[in-house]
Amino acid sequence: MGVSISVLASGSRGNSAIVASSRAKILVDAGISCRETVQRMRATGDDPRTLSAILITHEHSDHIYGLAVLARKFHVPVFMTEATHQAWARALRDDAGEFPQLARLEIFSASRCFQVGDVEVSPFTIPHDAADPVGLTFRAEGIKVGIATDLGYMPPNVCDRLRGCDVLVVESNHDLEMLRVGPYPWSVKQRVGSPTGHLSNDKLAKFFSTEYDGTASYIVLAHISEHNNHPELARGTAEKALGLRQTLLHNRVMLAKQSGPMEAIQL
Ligand SMILES: [Zn+2]
Ligand SMILES: [Zn+2]
Repeated sequence: MGVSISVLASGSRGNSAIVASSRAKILVDAGISCRETVQRMRATGDDPRTLSAILITHEHSDHIYGLAVLARKFHVPVFMTEATHQAWARALRDDAGEFPQLARLEIFSASRCFQVGDVEVSPFTIPHDAADPVGLTFRAEGIKVGIATDLGYMPPNVCDRLRGCDVLVVESNHDLEMLRVGPYPWSVKQRVGSPTGHLSNDKLAKFFSTEYDGTASYIVLAHISEHNNHPELARGTAEKALGLRQTLLHNRVMLAKQSGPMEAIQL
């Protein structure tokens, strides 16, 4: 059956993706409601009752919004780092000061790989303004998938970890000029453009034209801002940077969407 990747939702109103091998199905982030996650999985021919695990990259609401309900309803183990778990629990504390509980919680460390079924998961630290944010790579059946969104820049450790990927899901958040003249208050613009904010089209293009090793059959541009970017602008900037590298023949660029699931990638 091989490995499949489907991005169910991507952007500041919710992020969620599925990485599946023939023996494990992992939901990466749960940033849309349980109901919406179920609907989008069913629309792509998938069954939420077959989820093996939910992995959380960081505690921002666009990555955890549907988590508690999804985990409870489908009795799925949830993997996150200790600091992310604490930040999540603090944010969801109720009026009586009670912390939310996850029936099946698995703590991982950003420096250690672990297994979910036959999938080897390797987390790595990314520069973002959350408690302990991570990017992830997955290896199964000879295929490597990399996911790196919500990062202010591409430090050397991230470039290293993204080498050798067959599928690369990577952030192309904003166009610098659109962010500058766009509707956000100045403080939010500062945050988005900071080294612990989000990756601009230009910073991603620089990665493609310098550090990127060109191994991916598919590149998915993700977390594209609805206010400070345009999908075709993100695509054009990425394709231009990739096009300057004449040796990169197979790098098909796809766009992850906020409004609905992207067509699944099968390898
Ligand atoms: Zn996000
Ligand atoms: Zn974030």
